[in-house]
Amino acid sequence: MLKQVSDLFIIGGGINGCGIAADAAGRGLSVILCEQNDLGQHTSSHSSKLIHGGLRYLEHYEFRLVREALIERDILLKVAGHLVHPLRFVMPHNQYLRPAWMIRTGLFLYDHLNLKQSLPKSKTLQLHDSPANPLQAHFKIAFEYSDASVDDARLVIHNALQAHAKGAKILPWHKVIYASRQKDCWQIKVLDSQDQEKTYYAKTLINASGPWVDQIIQGFQLTTQHHVRLVKGSHIIVPKLYEGKQAYILQHSDKRVIFVIPYQNQFSLIGTTDVDYQGDPSKASISPEEQSYLCNAVNQYFKKSISVKDIIWSYAGVRPLQSDEHGDPKKVTRDYSLEVHDENGALAILSVYGGKVTTYRKLAEHALSKLQAYFPNMAKDWTAHTPLPGANFSSFDEFCSHFKSDYAWLPEPMLNRLAKAYGTRCYELLQSAQSLEDLGIHFGADLYEAEVKFMINTEWAKSLDDIIWRRSKLGLFLTLAEQEQLNNWLHEANIL
Ligand SMILES: Cc1cc2nc3c(=O)[nH]c(=O)nc-3n(C[C@H](O)[C@H](O)[C@H](O)COP(=O)(O)OP(=O)(O)OC[C@H]3O[C@@H](n4cnc5c(N)ncnc54)[C@H](O)[C@@H]3O)c2cc1C
Repeated sequence: MLKQVSDLFIIGGGINGCGIAADAAGRGLSVILCEQNDLGQHTSSHSSKLIHGGLRYLEHYEFRLVREALIERDILLKVAGHLVHPLRFVMPHNQYLRPAWMIRTGLFLYDHLNLKQSLPKSKTLQLHDSPANPLQAHFKIAFEYSDASVDDARLVIHNALQAHAKGAKILPWHKVIYASRQKDCWQIKVLDSQDQEKTYYAKTLINASGPWVDQIIQGFQLTTQHHVRLVKGSHIIVPKLYEGKQAYILQHSDKRVIFVIPYQNQFSLIGTTDVDYQGDPSKASISPEEQSYLCNAVNQYFKKSISVKDIIWSYAGVRPLQSDEHGDPKKVTRDYSLEVHDENGALAILSVYGGKVTTYRKLAEHALSKLQAYFPNMAKDWTAHTPLPGANFSSFDEFCSHFKSDYAWLPEPMLNRLAKAYGTRCYELLQSAQSLEDLGIHFGADLYEAEVKFMINTEWAKSLDDIIWRRSKLGLFLTLAEQEQLNNWLHEANIL
């Protein structure tokens, strides 16, 4: 039988793998992507959920990275307008922190590195002790600036959807176990979720396996100049510390910054830490020291004090940072490198080192431009001007008001959640439903059978965790009994 050789075979279904898959498929390349677990299950769903320039990277003179990230922030606000939303950050200041002039200079640069910035510029705030101000009374001034929040796990899914719509084959629960160059193509062996071995062939291999990038290179006896340094970062979620839509950026006594971000209406998301990590990246979890560290940081700033007993949920992710000479993990660059190797001008492998959720789209563009020589006929870049699935509206607020009038019977919080999760794909999910009863079984919180089926049928969801912790964060709202009921239903429906 004639073997089918695809143009690209991508290892890794995190944001970088899915971003490259979407970009490449849209340029006319044939693409297969294999992810060993669920899409976005690892680093890409464990971030601080910010699309940001990274104010603190200015201190390390990372102007290229910050400028690129600020430009990307504006692009993502347009092409992923349901998933990415503007967020104002407040940075309280006191005499023990970085000097005010230094912060003002940094913020000036932050406002101007992208001259076309669409978000409001930074400003200085005079703080007054009042019930509306959640900060301790000794903070007299603060600085306010713009960035954006993102649903990181869903950004991965929407890139996978875009790739799929352009013809890419997306295979979650497919672990790559072997890859080697043959005479005229790469041969790649994969184990599927039933432990069945499958063989694929491709002209070019993309190693977008995040924290596993070195393991893949070593395991397949390939060579590389770069390496990753694995740095764990953890977050905690507590009942919300304050009313209001603003986030806070706190400078801790060790010069690290900690974010406090409004989360899912009822909570505050607090993170992160930087801890060198050895071991299996899929097993990373928050330590008791990290929990106390994050609580202590908050307690130095807010009137409301928290302890580890207040933690409702936590998660830890492993940053695959480019290894550099810095001893201190917080100083290791957050920029990325792409390394390409080939044999006599063919059978290339491109490996991704480092990166941020914020810069995934540009990283994909850079990756494709590095592959131009191997695919001279591929189309031009296109993702900066094409909305992701669900983001085909001119303004998110306008879309929401149409959506609300079309489904006026939906409770307001559910409308808002669905609009942010699916954008215009809500119409596909809800179809002609005219009441909550039309959405089928109610699993608790505002989760109904129609949404679960939509996640399974259109978003590659299989397990309870896929549904309540990645496609949504409904795990924060469903009781354990409700989660069990949903799990049983998934088993009975033969989904698992
Ligand atoms: C604590 C923390 C906070 C962060 N905050 C932010 C933030 O606010 N904003 C921001 O822009 N960035 C942030 N980042 C950075 C960002 O999350 C990462 O740079 C990004 O998610 C990396 O994506 P990736 O696709 O390279 O890796 P991953 O998401 O880890 O994807 C790699 C995938 O490869 C798969 N894989 C590995 N081996 C195989 C195999 N053999 N076969 C098949 N599949 C395989 C893995 O299962 C994995 O899913 C943060 C990171 C951390 C850890």
